[in-house]
Amino acid sequence: MRRLACVFAHPDDETFASGGTIAKLAAADTRIDLFCATDGDAGKNSGILVSSRAELGALRRGELAAAARILGIGSLSTPGHGDGVLRDVDPDRLIGEIVFFLRRYRPDVVLTFGPEGAPTQHRDHRAISRAATAAFFLAPLATEYMDQLREAEPYGPARLYFCAWEPPATGAELTALSVSATCCVDVSGYLDTKRAAFFAHGTQRQHLARFEQLAMTPTERFALAAGAQQPRMVTESLFDGL
Ligand SMILES: [Zn+2]
Repeated sequence: MRRLACVFAHPDDETFASGGTIAKLAAADTRIDLFCATDGDAGKNSGILVSSRAELGALRRGELAAAARILGIGSLSTPGHGDGVLRDVDPDRLIGEIVFFLRRYRPDVVLTFGPEGAPTQHRDHRAISRAATAAFFLAPLATEYMDQLREAEPYGPARLYFCAWEPPATGAELTALSVSATCCVDVSGYLDTKRAAFFAHGTQRQHLARFEQLAMTPTERFALAAGAQQPRMVTESLFDGL
């Protein structure tokens, strides 16, 4: 069975950046595990009444679990770091958590944001990209995070991909350029599932227009960042040639 590990910052990142690909892979018997670093407790709530950040975080954890069920994600790892301040978490700790996640679930492919955090350039997206990239290279080394080795063997995933996006149109609200895509996945048969997962994130409904514009595209785009070469310059599957 093929395995994909997604490493993102907030509940809804998985749907926004890769919901179609996740649903398509899950339908094709791929195991998908998601590490989501924060509970999104500093996000907006679309007018849903919440009395505290903790309450919003709990609500969004529940929304993430519902979206994960819709997309076919097999497990959620949610360490609950502070939303908006991920770059202030001790990097050794955050990287170590992702190293453990990779050693435990042993994915073939790891997916995270690009270092620029496109399309929003959110500082948490940039922070999780750096940490996931470091973890990709450290997880196979028996000299790293040796305290974990009683529970999980060193393990090296085959490939690391970054999320990539269409270049922004002239006059677009978001202007970040992502790395160039090397893998364009046809998700046209999974857009209804992707939209349903977005609606499971009820507190994020105010971002619907942005979701429709940026995320409801017939292809989702990714860029090979490290690991095994692709058999072609631009391919149609994250697992092509593995
Ligand atoms: Zn996010």
